[in-house]
Amino acid sequence: MPRPIEALIHTEALAHNLRVARAHAPDAKVWAVVKANAYGHGIERAYAGLAGADGFALLDLAEAERIRALGWRAPVLLLEGCFEPRDLELCSRLDLWHTVHHEAQIDWLAAHKTSRPMRVFLKLNSGMNRLGFRPAAFRAAWQRLSGLTQVDDIVLMTHFASADADGGIADALATFERATEGLPGDRSLANSAATLRAAALDPALRGDWVRPGIEVYGSSPDHPLHDAAHWGLQPAMTLRAQLIALQDLQPGDAVGYGAAFRAEASMRIGVVACGYADGYPRVAPTGTPVLVDGVRTRIVGRVSMDMITVDLTPVPGARLGSEVTLWGQGPGGSRLPIDEVAASAGTLGYELMCALAPRVPTRVV
Ligand SMILES: *Cc1c(COP(=O)(O)O)cnc(C)c1O
Repeated sequence: MPRPIEALIHTEALAHNLRVARAHAPDAKVWAVVKANAYGHGIERAYAGLAGADGFALLDLAEAERIRALGWRAPVLLLEGCFEPRDLELCSRLDLWHTVHHEAQIDWLAAHKTSRPMRVFLKLNSGMNRLGFRPAAFRAAWQRLSGLTQVDDIVLMTHFASADADGGIADALATFERATEGLPGDRSLANSAATLRAAALDPALRGDWVRPGIEVYGSSPDHPLHDAAHWGLQPAMTLRAQLIALQDLQPGDAVGYGAAFRAEASMRIGVVACGYADGYPRVAPTGTPVLVDGVRTRIVGRVSMDMITVDLTPVPGARLGSEVTLWGQGPGGSRLPIDEVAASAGTLGYELMCALAPRVPTRVV
């Protein structure tokens, strides 16, 4: 038998979460953000669940080709735009919309030979200082773009640095509104956090296009302020494995590399066929939550490459082959939010999803 570990991609959960995103921005069109191979879920695997989106947003040209190869005819947006002039040829051939966030990208467009004018997303740097034109340079960039025969439509766009924090949007939104005042064209502002947290309060945020990523995968963009259940989101990825050994420990017995955990009393532990080479975070400490047969318990000792050890005290019936849920949906309707595991490991659900290792067999359900 193959090593007993697998990941499940839940098509219905993706479709449900996409509906949640839409419900928060009912008049907007929805980009499902599928960068980083659909946040680790796999573009091809997530496709059925997300096919209700109005478009797919990503940033790798090879991923854009994969979306088109699936038969997707509707919009595809490159969130980082072109990296070199000849990327525009692919944009023309695959009919990709692309972000323009610096002057050289406008130069490349001006030199691009095409009979079909393109749609571009002109990006404002509203304070994050990664991509985009500063407010003072934004109008000139818009003027230049709108004078090109290669361009037929300009969407005005920005990205929030702190949409997941209270009060993190107001300044950036004001900057955007000042910089774009009077300019024609659709607007695109909100990521998951802004869509869920603020679009209801300030409809200006919804704009014409929202760009939810993490929420469609069922992780809360503002955990631990709010968890996924609060937002009505369902886990779209389950990582599960089985117990491949059990050990009865005596007081003082150590577990795993570095003897990082020692039993204080007699206890039984289980050994799980999942380790950091599967994408489970090595830094997850003793106490990180895990489900065994749907019962919540904790990992103990250090995560190793291929194995994790778990406390079986709350699960006396556990045996060889017991199902272990590392995150996602467990047996009998049980759930372990990826955000809780991530928080215990000092990171975000985003990173854990994206780190799911290629060696884990993955099924779409
Ligand atoms: C990744 C990304 C998003 C989606 O962000 P989430 O926090 O996952 O919703 C939206 N817009 C841009 C420009 C992005 O790069």
